[in-house]
Amino acid sequence: MSLPGLLDPVALDAEPPEASPIRSVYVHAPFCFRRCGYCDYAVTVAQTGDVAAWLAGLAGEVTALEDEGIFVLDSVLDTLYVGGGTPSLLGPEAMAGLGELLGYDRLEHEDLEWTAEANPESFTPEVAQAWREAGVNRISLGLQTFHEPSLAWMGRLHGPAGGVAAVENVRRAGFENYSVDLIFGLPERLDRPWSDDLDVVLRMEPPHISLYGLSVEANTPLGRSVAEGKETPASETRCAEEYLEAAERLAAAGYEHYEVSNFARPGFQALHNSVYWTGSPYLGLGNGSHSYLHPRRRWNVRDWAEYVRLTGEGQLPMDDEEILEPVSVRLERVWLALRTRRGVRHDSLPDEARDLVRKWVATDLAKCDAGICRLTPLGWLSMDRLTLDLDGIL
Ligand code: SF4
Repeated sequence: MSLPGLLDPVALDAEPPEASPIRSVYVHAPFCFRRCGYCDYAVTVAQTGDVAAWLAGLAGEVTALEDEGIFVLDSVLDTLYVGGGTPSLLGPEAMAGLGELLGYDRLEHEDLEWTAEANPESFTPEVAQAWREAGVNRISLGLQTFHEPSLAWMGRLHGPAGGVAAVENVRRAGFENYSVDLIFGLPERLDRPWSDDLDVVLRMEPPHISLYGLSVEANTPLGRSVAEGKETPASETRCAEEYLEAAERLAAAGYEHYEVSNFARPGFQALHNSVYWTGSPYLGLGNGSHSYLHPRRRWNVRDWAEYVRLTGEGQLPMDDEEILEPVSVRLERVWLALRTRRGVRHDSLPDEARDLVRKWVATDLAKCDAGICRLTPLGWLSMDRLTLDLDGIL
């Protein structure tokens, strides 16, 4: 499967994209059994997901969007992504209900990528089978680690064996396309054996792997513990060592490091996320979700009860929106160009920027090949700084 533009190098002097039909949809499923100590997502704590309320809210939002006439779904979809929260807490019937709500005629694209996120403890064989029959063809599993004390520290509900069993469920249900998430940069006092976790994942041979560094957000229990001096985050050195070890070992095992956090076997790049990285339009449904239709960016209210109230009254659940200024569009184009293997076309850079890129190459932060400049894993560790440096001289 492929999307136009996914592999094309970026020309930094290109015109902004034309507004085009929305062919990608993100749907937020807000329910989690409990909130992990580091999480600041739009999450509602519940023992099971309220499927009826979820579908009713989404139906109200779709109707309100049709009435408004800006973010309209009038095309078959290339990608549909159900994220959370914990979508698997919604149980077996949820994806068929979502398919009916969006309309299966919109999901008839033969190359549609329909991803749903799942956590091991709620991704039962029954859920796996029902989702497969509903049309889901890609699963993203939140495994994070196989180190029991670290799973307990994070507040995850599954143990190491639960992660292994979830991958088995994915395979037995017939999903060939799936991804596993690992988290790095856990506090050093946990003694999390990062190399052992990589060993386990490499033995599983998933087609796609995502790596995320633990981020300390101020408004979370972890953020408060760090502020009070009760917890010490991993050092930058430790985070860099773990990231670079993973980049090296996964590349040696045949995975393409195609985006700062993502690795794939050939043909298994995440198409939905690539929509974000190529500046293509997408619609976000559900509380806390974001939408983009150049030059308009919009985001929904985060609070689930407020989302239910607004959609129940026939109103858009929008929190706010902005029209991107050309300077923001340019900065975003630089950032998007640097974060993926698409890279930047050398001939689209002014002389001063070429000098800067030459310095990056000399210090192993970037490589240039056949007129395309791409960051290395070492460069990706400093991506935000490099983006600002490049934008500053464009
Ligand atoms: S399972 Fe994921 S979304 Fe839910 S609380 Fe934990 S980190 Fe947040």
